[in-house]
Amino acid sequence: MRDLGIGSWPARRTKNGAHRPAIVFGDRVDTYADVERRTRQLANALRAAGVGRGDRVAYVGFNHPALLETFFATAQLGAVWVIVNARLAPAEVEYILTDSGARAVVFGSEHAGHAAQLLHLESVETWVAVGGAAAGTAAAGAPGALDYEAFLAAGGTDVIDEPVTWDDPVMIMYTSGTTGRPKGATHTHGSLTFQYFQALIDTDFTRDEVMLAVAPLFHVAGLNTMTMPTFLKGGRIIVQPAFRPETVLATVAAERVTSIFAVPAMMDALAAHPDFPGTDLSSLRNVLVGGSPLPDRMLRTWADRGVAIQQGFGMTETAPGIFLLLAEDSFRKAGSAGRPHFWVEGKVVRPDGTEVAPGEIGEVVAQGPNVMQGYWNLPDATAAAVVDGWYHTGDLATVDDDGYVWIKDRLKDMFISGGENVYPAEVENALLDVPGVAEAAVIGVPHPRWGEVGHAYVVLAEGADVTPGSIVAALAGRLARYKIPQDVVVVDRLPRTATGKLQKHLIRTTYEGNAR
Ligand code: ATP
Ligand code: MG
Repeated sequence: MRDLGIGSWPARRTKNGAHRPAIVFGDRVDTYADVERRTRQLANALRAAGVGRGDRVAYVGFNHPALLETFFATAQLGAVWVIVNARLAPAEVEYILTDSGARAVVFGSEHAGHAAQLLHLESVETWVAVGGAAAGTAAAGAPGALDYEAFLAAGGTDVIDEPVTWDDPVMIMYTSGTTGRPKGATHTHGSLTFQYFQALIDTDFTRDEVMLAVAPLFHVAGLNTMTMPTFLKGGRIIVQPAFRPETVLATVAAERVTSIFAVPAMMDALAAHPDFPGTDLSSLRNVLVGGSPLPDRMLRTWADRGVAIQQGFGMTETAPGIFLLLAEDSFRKAGSAGRPHFWVEGKVVRPDGTEVAPGEIGEVVAQGPNVMQGYWNLPDATAAAVVDGWYHTGDLATVDDDGYVWIKDRLKDMFISGGENVYPAEVENALLDVPGVAEAAVIGVPHPRWGEVGHAYVVLAEGADVTPGSIVAALAGRLARYKIPQDVVVVDRLPRTATGKLQKHLIRTTYEGNAR
């Protein structure tokens, strides 16, 4: 099946809309023709550096056009793109580069320090630094690395279009590492393409999309729910390297942004910004939020501004789309994760595999062409996760009478107190409704009488006039007694991933001195 691979997209888009803006980065505007030319040159340069079919090419860095260029160029070679979380420490990056056996590494200038520490890695033959160095010179801070623009310019202009099938791997993306060491989910041209198809089928993308790519592109939802689908449609992708609420709000108003993917923590930060009430949000019609639980208070705040939030549920392993709450349901079913995507069979099951009755809690399992091929180098973990073709998410949910899915929490985080199941996400949601509570995390800890009880860790809003006692008092009446945390501890900050997910295992080791 020659030429259907992801690497061919820049050329395909260029056939029809060459001069349309594709990727905007600050003052820089690359048209589809620019992206086609640059990715072709980069593919040639990588090939000259010895990268061939099946080899791994890693990218380490924050959002930047080079991140997307590396993806397309690698795909053109039939090689496999390894996208690395830019927030990881050097030792963690080293683990991923070694685990994936990356042959070439492209990194953002802000990662020169990392690169300098990792240049000894034998498996990596080529280091290329994006930005921060004068063209043609060695990259600042990482003396063994080549400058990206010079590297690309020296690449030839041959059209490289290694034939691929939809079963050929094209990307290894490591999971967020919320619950432990990240695992490399291996996706194929087919699994990603079907994810993009279903995003386009189920969501309202047009050729005139103006999409703001500010959530990390090194995470699955940042890359795959909107950014790549916008490219397929021929829309405009505005890439921002860092999340600054005032910049995002100003960009939405000035550029008439139509689509954005955000995680709940970003939506909260935007709503809390003093510019929020005065910002014109009327262009936003395709707002997708997911990645962690959506607090009720966040949904209310945005609904008050007329913004219909679509909720997406999924994970790195499923590229990520499993469930989607459409805009038309976003007020009526606010808080639900919606229904399965077009290509996905998604259901909520009991431990014996039978489907739950309405209201009963079970595990989400999913089947579909967007499920990963497997975890890189982890056959046992793959076999445990994908059973009889069903991917087991490790997430708990209920289904209502209309077939809408409501996500509860991760199975790993649920605990049992006095024989009753407690879903920390529900307790956190209630805590976030207490005025003065800015952030909340709840974990179950051993207790001699109840088996386990909840401990809450909260960050207070500035100038908040609350105490642990008043917080607990505010929960009485809203939550059953067994759900109310036995202890509330005020802390300065909570450990979170790059997308704002609570890292409960770090809360345990930091504050409780135990690993569950
Ligand atoms: P790791 O697997 O390394 O511990 P992770 O599971 O956080 O990290 P991702 O694949 O980025 O890595 O995230 C997927 C998880 O995020 C899901 O399994 C689920 O727990 C959570 N999640 C995603 N969307 C939602 C949502 N809409 N509501 C609640 N939780 C969500
Ligand atoms: Mg996971």
